[in-house]
This record gives sequence, C-alpha cells and structure tokens, in this order.
Amino acid sequence: MKVLVINSGSSSIKFQLFKMPEQEVIASGLVEKIGLKNGEIHYNTQKKSVNIEMEIPDHAVGLREVVNLLMSSASGVISNVDEIEMIGHRVVHGGKEFLNTVEINQDAIDRIKSLFNLAPLHNPPNHVGIVVAQDIFPNARQIAVFDTSFHQTIPEKAHTFAIPLKFRDEHDIRLYGFHGISHHYVSQKAIEYLHNPKAKLIVIHLGNGCSMTAVKDGKSIDHSLGFGPNQGLIMGTRSGDIDQGVIFYLMEKFNMGAQEVSDLLTKKSGMLGLTGDSDLRGIEERANNGDETAQLALEMNTYRIKKYIGTYTAVLNGLDAIVFTAGIGENSELIRAKVCEDMSYFGIELDANKNSIRSKEIREISTEYSRTKVLVIPTNEELQIAKECFAFQQK
Ligand code: ADP
Repeated sequence: MKVLVINSGSSSIKFQLFKMPEQEVIASGLVEKIGLKNGEIHYNTQKKSVNIEMEIPDHAVGLREVVNLLMSSASGVISNVDEIEMIGHRVVHGGKEFLNTVEINQDAIDRIKSLFNLAPLHNPPNHVGIVVAQDIFPNARQIAVFDTSFHQTIPEKAHTFAIPLKFRDEHDIRLYGFHGISHHYVSQKAIEYLHNPKAKLIVIHLGNGCSMTAVKDGKSIDHSLGFGPNQGLIMGTRSGDIDQGVIFYLMEKFNMGAQEVSDLLTKKSGMLGLTGDSDLRGIEERANNGDETAQLALEMNTYRIKKYIGTYTAVLNGLDAIVFTAGIGENSELIRAKVCEDMSYFGIELDANKNSIRSKEIREISTEYSRTKVLVIPTNEELQIAKECFAFQQK
C-alpha cells in the first residue's frame, strides 16, 4: 500500500511517499518558497534527483507539480494518482479536540479550522494542504495526525495553569505540548530497544525547536512546551522559560507592545539572542575557539536540560533511559556530553568513545555500568505518520 505523507507549512510542503508496511521510502522532497517567483521543488527517488525552479503561486500549484513528478516518465514512481491509497497530513494543533489520529471528513476539517486561533501560524497552512490534497487525490483516504495528540495523556494537574479555571474551561488556555509525533516515534523505538513497555523515559528533542517529554508506560505524562511553542528549553531563537516579570518590565520600561515582546522572545532570543547565531554548529565552533559568549550560551542551554531531567525524574519517580533526538540531539556530541556531565546521582554515566561515534542508527552511548541508559534515536516524523495511516487502515 502506498501512503503519501504531507507536511504543509506556510510557504513549503514537505512530502514522502512510503510503501507500507515495508516502510520503504519510494520518493520524497520539498516544495519551497510558495508564493514567490523563484519557488523551488526538490524531488528524490531511489534512482533520481530532480530540482526545479519555477513560480509557485500557491500550495495547489506546488502539490500538482509534485504529482506530475511522481507520475512523469523520466522520474515517476506511480502511473496513476489512485495508486496512492492514503494521505497522512501533519497537523500541528489538535487542541483538546483531537485525542488521536482521525480520518478527515467535513466535521474534522471544521474542527481543525476552529483551532486556527490557538495555532495561527501552523494550522491554516496545514488546512490548505488537506483541502488541496482532497482535490488532487479524490479517491484516497485522508488522515490527520496531530502534534498535540501524544500529550493528551498529560494529567490535569500538569496541564492546567494556576490561573482562574475559567480561562481553561471557557477559553482553552492550558498546556497542550508539541513535537508529539517525534516524541511518540522515539519513545516507541526506545521501548522496543529496551524491551520494556514500562520503561521510565525522558525524551529530549533538540532541533531548532526543543522540547522534553516524561514518558511512562509509553504515554506522555509531562512535557516542556506548553500553550504555545516557547516554554521550557532554550531554543535556536526562542527563550524558553523566562520570568514573566521580565515581560511586564519590557512593556513598561521600553513601551513595547505585546507583538513586539512576543517577537523578541520567540524570534530574537534563545541561542540567537545570546550569541548572534542560531545554528548550533557555528556556536560550537566559536566555543571551541575560546569565544566566552558562545561558551556561556552552551552552558546555559545544557543547564536548562539538566534541570528538566531532574524535574522529570521526580515526576516519573525513577529513570530507565534518557533519549536524545532531532538535529542537535542526534549530531551534537558536545551537547550530549555537557548534559550528561556530573549526573551520577541520576545513574547517568556517558561513554565518551561511544558518544563520539557518528551514525544514523539507534545507539546506546552510556557505559556498561550506567544505571540509566543514554540512547540516541534518530527521529522520523514522516514514518510515524505513515505508520499511523497504516494502522488506521487495519482498523
Ligand atoms: P527542525 O526543528 O527545524 O526540524 P533540526 O532537527 O533539523 O531542526 O535541527 C536543526 C539544528 O541541528 C540546528 O541548530 C543545527 O545546527 C543542528 N545540527 C545539525 N547537525 C549538527 C551537527 N553535526 N552538530 C551540531 N549541531 C547540528
């Protein structure tokens, strides 16, 4: 069975075509700069790579071009759109509405639209991707997989903010969590690796956005991102946790408006605000060359992760493994080493040699004697969506 996974953003569409249940990637790629004259399409199969520059006025044009490539005589992998039986859409915000993956029908579309105000940057382009795909693939079953669903198991005491309850009950202001598709995939892989469905895990997703999840019995029980995507860890351009007193002080002292403060904390802060650079590779290089600002930013970043490990170990009442994933988690030996430094109280003992090995495979980087295992597990959100589509079809 062929499943097309679509991740539709405001100016891009990422896609992967899978053969399931074999989990084989038949084609993949990216449509970029939608809305601009110099749009780009990058398309790969096991045999060919195609890169096109063209005007892509909207998502419909972009997705139609992808379909043309999928069916072209030179680089195609299907002969007819109906060969694709299912389409899996990534949807960022499912609010408290969507506890699980759902089949898309008019009711689901209306409910996704009703969440626009909670995720104004993400849900509208996700919705566009759904509408366009319905038009292009009229006979395929369309499934929505939500980034928030995995966190719906977080108990009320952890997802409720200590403000008057009417804001939660009447206005849906509470912790939702994000990166759930990644945390779900990685925690399942860790459970398989450990052969222990009851494992107490802390999953540390470190990409441009960063988050941590406490996982017990395969379920998310607490998570570092909250109502929006700027709680918890220090990220590429986001501050993460900050004393809210700072926000009011900025507004009063510098006469800043809400939007200005929001832009400061989400687009100009984090590693970028501290060092002038949001990409970790450059920051690591500077730190290695003795740049004290870069060194401080790395210290702050990893200190914050350690604090959350402490918190989540308490919440889990134990710890079997910590798991690093995403661009930084999978690739940065330095960040992993700094997070695991002086953590013997938590039973964490890193093996420096194993930590230095670069690989795309699941790997254990703790010493033989480490009470808590340290794992690196590459995330694969697209595959998780394809798996959920396949499981849905079996129901
Ligand atoms: P996104 O959240 O956009 O999916 P990624 O998961 O791709 O992000 O992670 C991007 C981050 O990974 C960037 O900060 C980048 O610097 C970092 N990264 C990628 N490769 C390496 C590496 N070899 N060493 C250190 N950091 C890396």
